Amino acid sequence: MSLPYLPELYARFRQCGAVSTDSRQPQQDTLFVALNGPSFRGAAFAPQALAQGARFAVVDDAAVAAQDPARYVLVPDTLEALQQLALYHRRQLTMPVVAITGSNGKTTTKELVHAVLGRRYRVQYTRGNLNNHIGVPLTLLSIDSAQHDLAVVEMGANHQGEIALLCRLAEPTHGLITNIGKAHLEGFGGVEGVAKGKGEMLQYLAASGGTAFVNTADTRIPALAAAVAQRISYPNPGDTYPATLLAATPHVSLELFDGTPVQARITGAYNFLNLAAAAAVGAHFEVPAEDIAAGLAGYDPVNNRSQLVRTAHNEVVLDAYNANPSSMAAAIASLAARPGDNARKAVLLADMFELGNESTAEHHALGDLLARQHFGTVLLIGPEMQRAQRPGFHHFATKAQAAAWLREHPLRDQQVLVKGSRGMSLETLMELL
Ligand code: ATP
Ligand code: MG
Repeated sequence: MSLPYLPELYARFRQCGAVSTDSRQPQQDTLFVALNGPSFRGAAFAPQALAQGARFAVVDDAAVAAQDPARYVLVPDTLEALQQLALYHRRQLTMPVVAITGSNGKTTTKELVHAVLGRRYRVQYTRGNLNNHIGVPLTLLSIDSAQHDLAVVEMGANHQGEIALLCRLAEPTHGLITNIGKAHLEGFGGVEGVAKGKGEMLQYLAASGGTAFVNTADTRIPALAAAVAQRISYPNPGDTYPATLLAATPHVSLELFDGTPVQARITGAYNFLNLAAAAAVGAHFEVPAEDIAAGLAGYDPVNNRSQLVRTAHNEVVLDAYNANPSSMAAAIASLAARPGDNARKAVLLADMFELGNESTAEHHALGDLLARQHFGTVLLIGPEMQRAQRPGFHHFATKAQAAAWLREHPLRDQQVLVKGSRGMSLETLMELL
């Protein structure tokens, strides 16, 4: 698609230091793109952004643009303008662009890939979790050929077609699907729908002659990747870059393809695959094994994802960033595998969101899974978790009720797993642990 205003918009963008879509953030020297929300018109905030230091503002409102034609760029659709500007910019870049998607572990893997590639290259990468139809363009627009050798872009999706769109905008040269699991089932329509949705990245790479990093430990990815001509596989023996899990507790340790040992600071056996993925990307880009090991070992999670926290009373795996059936099962298996009697282990689990009409069945299945583990304490929080309730478990509709119970029954000398969807903000219970 070629839009008539793009060359002028690109010229304006090049005069600015950054792109902003949020008028509440500092605007010094930005190109402010006035996106519309469900209940607001972005153009209404544009004068304020300009007053706060934005250099230019992109708006879809002719009356606003007429106020200062030198500083406004008038377009029919500001979201389309942001996305097409990002693509236009991306096409000026000649560096490799590595895209990362998957049901679980995208951000962790992205951070690890950055930690590894950053040993040898100047890497621009997705900040935080800016992985959608707005975040990906913003990430692309933050890449600067003069400052960066390589880019790593996280791509998230909860519907079909989204990854295809993000690939059309980012035109990745390399792609990695962490895994295909039960996440966002509501929007994707079951796990086969998830496979199709994530597979859009592999279709893009197959059609464009790109390179795929293939997780052969996942049951679906190798088949989906078969059409991609350039495949780099991990972590099984015989793969391009095998890796061996040595221990998962308290932190993951592994051996790289050439036997180099790695002592990571993240916990959970599932993180082995995220580490192995990052090692494969690093090796492919010719980062020496000792640098790969140092990059992986240096990554310290401080974002509520698989953080191992030693409180005054307990050892807590704080995993309150999100939850879905696959990551719940992985986290529970990981707790069960930790040394020690399961009777001295506790789980504080809250509702898994976005499961649509599979929610009841998935929460029920979680109850069965938990019943087999015989953990000393099972504390379930939220209306959906009622389905997981079994004899001996404690279920509370609200977090406040669960907190009250914890005050009366404090946990001591336990290994504790804390996990629930982001909206449940379980990290606020940490002070009671
Ligand atoms: P989002 O969809 O919110 O962007 P994400 O895919 O970026 O999530 P992370 O933020 O890296 O995922 O991790 C979120 C949680 O997913 C972790 O705290 C952990 O519980 C779980 N997780 C991470 N990696 C895996 C994996 N390989 N397999 C299963 N679960 C995982
Ligand atoms: Mg993420």
